Amino acid sequence: SKTPVGFIGLGNMGNPMAKNLIKHGYPLILYDVFPDVCKEFKEAGEQVASSPADVAEKADRIITMLPSSMNSIEVYSGANGILKKVKKGSLLIDSSTIDPSVSKELAKEVEKMGAVFMDAPVSGGAARSGNLTFMVGGVENEFAAAQELLGCMGSNVLYCGAVGSGQSAKICNNMLLAISMIGTAEAMNLGIRSGLDPKLLAKILNMSSGRCWSSDTYNPVPGVMDGVPSSNNYQGGFGTTLMAKDLGLAQDSATSTKTPILLGSVAHQIYRMMCSKGYSKKDFSSVFQYLREEETF
Ligand code: NAD
Repeated sequence: SKTPVGFIGLGNMGNPMAKNLIKHGYPLILYDVFPDVCKEFKEAGEQVASSPADVAEKADRIITMLPSSMNSIEVYSGANGILKKVKKGSLLIDSSTIDPSVSKELAKEVEKMGAVFMDAPVSGGAARSGNLTFMVGGVENEFAAAQELLGCMGSNVLYCGAVGSGQSAKICNNMLLAISMIGTAEAMNLGIRSGLDPKLLAKILNMSSGRCWSSDTYNPVPGVMDGVPSSNNYQGGFGTTLMAKDLGLAQDSATSTKTPILLGSVAHQIYRMMCSKGYSKKDFSSVFQYLREEETF
């Protein structure tokens, strides 16, 4: 049988990712700062640890799936962090979307302990289907070992280069996603206010040159599609706070590389405003609702 894999952070993404590892026969050692989310795994017979250090003591391959840079620093370098107990030769994969410079810093600390760190942020909200894309940064000759685990959770596992480069790729993707989501929401809102039927308008866009993932797979207008957050009061999915965070990371990358990102900057401000207006816990497609309510936006 397979040796256990550690998994830390069982939120919207971590939960279905962990389940896919179980499906592929990997026993898990789980930890989340919010113990309730581990309950269903415990009831299904998986082992729950008391801290990230405890996970590192029991598993030599660990995947982390946390909200932001701060949480990754805490889980790796904190008082009860992975680094307190990490075994030599361990493989630590951080799938959180965080600042690439933090990934590089963590990689250095992990290396000092004789272990390996890779950043492997993901794209594709459809975690449940095992259809994620992983963008992997780190030492190339460790890629195959990472691929073994990531391949259980995603159909595309792409090597991007040195540590941090997975994050760089992910940040570009999410900036584009934010811009296209806001654009889709604006177009749908304009059409509806011009008297068009939302379902018909979505159908037309999706047969035309305006088509994008936000219009044909994750439409932000309630009732246009089934099985997406917009048709479930914007619950679940990808939180507005997380999108605002990713746009902040894009802003940081743009500053350090002197790159103009005009629409990315506007998108950042829109998502930050939404966070302060009660949308922080809703899926990021709720920008449609925000635009509807802000008549004078
Ligand atoms: P989430 O907030 O739903 O889940 C994060 C989990 O981490 C929570 O269960 C939380 O309790 C736990 N956590 C936080 N701090 C912790 C700590 N110190 N120790 C242990 N556990 C801790 O977030 P999510 O939607 O699963 O996203 C996770 C990451 O994946 C983010 O970086 C996000 O940007 C990225 N991402 C999300 C999506 C998506 O569709 N939701 C898609 C691609 C990438």
